[in-house]
Amino acid sequence: MSANRVKGTYDVLPNESHKWIKLEESIRHILNLYNIKEIRTPMMEYSNVFHRDSEGSDMVTKETYDFVDRSNRALTLRPEGTAGVIRSYVENKLYASQELEKVYYIGPNFRYERPQKGRYRQFYQFGVEAIGTVDAALDAEIVILAYDFIKRLGLKGVKVRVNTLGDQASRSSYHEALVKHFTPHKDELCNDCKERIYKNPLRILDCKIDHNHEAVKSAPTPLDLLNDESKAYFDEVIGYLDAAGIDYEIAPRLVRGLDYYSHTVFEIEADIKGFGAQNVLGGGGRYQNLVKELGGPDLGGIGFAFGMERLLMALDALEIDFSKDLEVDAFVVTTSPNLRKYAMKLLYDLRNADLVCDMNYTQKSFKGQFKQALRLDAKYLLILGDEEFERGMISVKNTKTEVQEEIKLNEVVNYLTQKLEK
Ligand code: AMP
Repeated sequence: MSANRVKGTYDVLPNESHKWIKLEESIRHILNLYNIKEIRTPMMEYSNVFHRDSEGSDMVTKETYDFVDRSNRALTLRPEGTAGVIRSYVENKLYASQELEKVYYIGPNFRYERPQKGRYRQFYQFGVEAIGTVDAALDAEIVILAYDFIKRLGLKGVKVRVNTLGDQASRSSYHEALVKHFTPHKDELCNDCKERIYKNPLRILDCKIDHNHEAVKSAPTPLDLLNDESKAYFDEVIGYLDAAGIDYEIAPRLVRGLDYYSHTVFEIEADIKGFGAQNVLGGGGRYQNLVKELGGPDLGGIGFAFGMERLLMALDALEIDFSKDLEVDAFVVTTSPNLRKYAMKLLYDLRNADLVCDMNYTQKSFKGQFKQALRLDAKYLLILGDEEFERGMISVKNTKTEVQEEIKLNEVVNYLTQKLEK
């Protein structure tokens, strides 16, 4: 029997989980400010939700966890959040009640990648999708939201890189220009890129192997081939970003790994010590065909996703102190076992007053209970002693100042609530 975790996965241990909770709280807080509601879709979908004819990215073709269930249905663990959200949007006809549906999700994704620092086989993403309209102001809002979120987390050295791929017509012209540009270099490119030249040359620009090749560096950019409508659309997006005053740069060579993007694409990078190549915290863009491909009407959307592990690594690098979240307000100790039932009652009352408290459950001696309280760094020790208890009193010791007072048992909850300003 093996008792090892699956390769590329990790456990969030009890002394780390508060960081996750804090990050999730920040996400929920800011998404609420933008009037965006959460959607929760299943972790598995029928395989054709991800394996669509148009989708030829490595992530979807080579890295998904595909399996058949006991009734021979082809299922896939989701490798990303967008397709499942769109499947739900279409299946539940959310377009019928709202012209624009803005949702966010937080959850695990699965990709069979080579595990390394900041890259796992099960990893968490938080993402946003705004589905139903094509409006440059909406593109801007989504970029602003991503920026605002990172800024509120306190991350520094953050770059928002924005680009456009243009509409379908501009993308086609760009496609042709790239085929023309890369064909003479076909033999110099990696095996994957040789095939990409005709299927999806855009992805050569993203290739991890060829990214320093002269032909890649000198390739035309989408901006060179935009038609007038697409250019006007991008100018409008940029106008909104300028009006909001966020810090961004136009990155003409930015194209994104997935095949469904059109118009605005963007990425958020952080320059964080020890990050190396994994410096992209998240990114996203506008898509047009996805809703239709999954059986819905011809409606566009825009979204982004951030990797939660990378966000936490970035926060760790800043050495932000989360220890406040672990503080215990009070620890109850008893001088004799027959007082434990009163301790139990006291804990119940303290918790009803929203105080974080605990006691010993391993039948430790009085001294042992004290040691445990110190290890937990509880702010107050509540000492139930036989003689005091007879008089309806309890000793309350502030562990920082070491000042100890005797308080009436029936006033101790109020006393602590006031002292701790709860
Ligand atoms: P993508 O969906 O590939 O655009 O990725 C969006 C973000 O998710 C990336 O910028 C990473 O922060 C994160 N991410 C993607 N793949 C992984 C992985 N295997 N492990 C951890 N984080 C990942």
